[in-house]
Amino acid sequence: MNLRILRVALDLPLPRLFDYTVAAAAPEDIGCCVRVPFGSGEKLGVIVAVSETSEHAKLKPAGEIVRGLPALPPDWLALTEFCSRYYQHPWGEVIALALPPQLRRGKLPAARKTKAAAAALCPAPPSPVLLPEQDAAVAAVAAGFGRYEAFLLHGVTGSGKTEVYLRLIEQALAMGLQALMLVPEIALTPQLESRVAARFPDAMVVSAHSGMSGGARSRGFIAALDGRADIVLGTRLAVFSPLPRLGLIVVDEEHDASFKQQEGLRYSARDVAVWRAHQCGVPIVLGSATPSLETFYHAGSGRYRLLELSRRAVALEMPSVRCIDTRREKLQEGISSALLSALESRLARNEQSLVFLNRRGYAPVLACPACGWVSRCSRCAANLVVHLADRRLRCHHFGLEEIIPIHCPGCGNVDIHPFGRGTQRLEESLAARFPGARVLRVDRDSASTPKKWQTLLDTIHEGRAEILVGTQMLAKGHDFPRLTLVGVVGADAALFAADFRAPERLFSQLMQVGGRSGRAALPGEVLIQTEYPAHPLYQALVAHDYTRFASAQLEERRVAGFPPFSFQVLLRAEARQLEDALAFLRIAAATASALLPHAVSLYDPVPMRLYRVMALERAQLLAESKSRPALQAFLALWTEQLYLQKAPRDLRWHIDVDPLEF
Ligand code: ADP
Ligand code: ZN
Repeated sequence: MNLRILRVALDLPLPRLFDYTVAAAAPEDIGCCVRVPFGSGEKLGVIVAVSETSEHAKLKPAGEIVRGLPALPPDWLALTEFCSRYYQHPWGEVIALALPPQLRRGKLPAARKTKAAAAALCPAPPSPVLLPEQDAAVAAVAAGFGRYEAFLLHGVTGSGKTEVYLRLIEQALAMGLQALMLVPEIALTPQLESRVAARFPDAMVVSAHSGMSGGARSRGFIAALDGRADIVLGTRLAVFSPLPRLGLIVVDEEHDASFKQQEGLRYSARDVAVWRAHQCGVPIVLGSATPSLETFYHAGSGRYRLLELSRRAVALEMPSVRCIDTRREKLQEGISSALLSALESRLARNEQSLVFLNRRGYAPVLACPACGWVSRCSRCAANLVVHLADRRLRCHHFGLEEIIPIHCPGCGNVDIHPFGRGTQRLEESLAARFPGARVLRVDRDSASTPKKWQTLLDTIHEGRAEILVGTQMLAKGHDFPRLTLVGVVGADAALFAADFRAPERLFSQLMQVGGRSGRAALPGEVLIQTEYPAHPLYQALVAHDYTRFASAQLEERRVAGFPPFSFQVLLRAEARQLEDALAFLRIAAATASALLPHAVSLYDPVPMRLYRVMALERAQLLAESKSRPALQAFLALWTEQLYLQKAPRDLRWHIDVDPLEF
């Protein structure tokens, strides 16, 4: 055998590999990085195959193979190839995303002893005796070590899901296996990291998320790759950690939208994790209090096994949830008398309250009552949000900002008003209403850096705030022992949003934020202000009945033919002129019609809801099928044609498989 060809994946927006010649290639070269000439320069790529022949003529010789970095293993290459195929994204670009930035440039991280975790600082709390349901869940998963099975661990916040993960990780480590744990938020990893490190003082725990320094990420990646790391803990990109001894995968808060990347390679880390568990023949546990409807559906159909934790491990009861009918009451600054008196009683008892409003800024828009002018963003189709704190109008999508005008730019009227209510306005009115109370606002503006965020958390924990005003930032993962009241305002809009996933998101958000109350010894109360108190979504919340809500939603989706009863793909295009984007999509649609199998339907190209972004206009085209294989087969052929299609110079397009946003 005369292996003379290296097949190399390069970080280029082209759906192909590149061949180079060498004097003699060896199968061991597969998975190594190599420098190759490209154009007039040089690029670093990954060798994905070696071969005797090439279908291309006039090959250039490859440069130096980067030694010193262990080769990427075959199962890792297979994982990235799967993502390339499934998400219709060039393999070289997938590999570039999956590698830490430093390694992608062929640099090896400076050797440094990875810090011996925080274990020594906080001694391991003794692990509690498992409750019967936890015990059953652990036993069910542990019985299947060594083969693939997917489990849905469904349990309310505080029901002890994390304890179940820790026990399973303990068993995996005892068998000499590695564990991979994915969590949605970088902000939650330090907390979990110290809990994990404290529990496993002898294990090597490695984090992987985009907030880490390049060197630390590369060192972690290499420790995972050469098998030294026992536990990899991280956000969605951690799913690409190479793990030669992988024995268990855990995805916590599996319903969280942040597992889906919204740019470049639009992958779902949860779905990729399930594929990976299957590929490696290991169990995977998807945990949530409000599973995604896709996962809930699979648990119902027997594809995943359902494990339930039906009660909280420590607190005695779930918080009581009540709707406050606001139709017959004149609200005071958006707040009902029932919520006001509930806040008062918390102040009297020296307990904390949280008023949840998922809209930051002072008001969603500035408007002129005389001529109808509204503050619109000049670069996208959204409204500019009023931020009174620094007297700015700000676009929440792309960061454009302007000074608040004194006169109406339309007619010169000086009497222009903020309309509606955001967290800043709510903070202001609560502070005016309760002058003796410390009101603390927690949103992306007040917690704009990790340091500010930590300071806010400390203030809350030390009891130096009585009333919190917060967005969903406060909904996740935090325990505030003195928090006993959650008021929800302004949630109704999401009931009637155009996006069919909006109710699912609202339910899980409210369930999560409600779960912040009464976590310790004090009982919690949740008050939802609404004009639709009889709405089934709120009624299910009142009854703490996720299953009822999810079953009803699934039935609606079945009737409408929405996911999980169908599979969707979007082709999006953006250009300076909307017409160019639409024209590209029309040609793409015509190309598709020639390839279209019976099982796949194609919709008309339409402008996107937020159609203008930074002076680019965007449109999209939806393809849908009840059969995933049919859709995938069609997509492969279609994408091939799209790459050949001549597009205007400033036009960009991409494909989003299983899109979450429309
Ligand atoms: P979840 O991940 O479902 O929110 P956790 O695993 O964090 O729940 O558990 C919530 C709280 O209950 C934690 O303080 C944890 O230490 C405690 N806990 C969990 N399981 C038990 C148990 N079997 N006995 C006593 N306390 C437990
Ligand atoms: Zn005006």
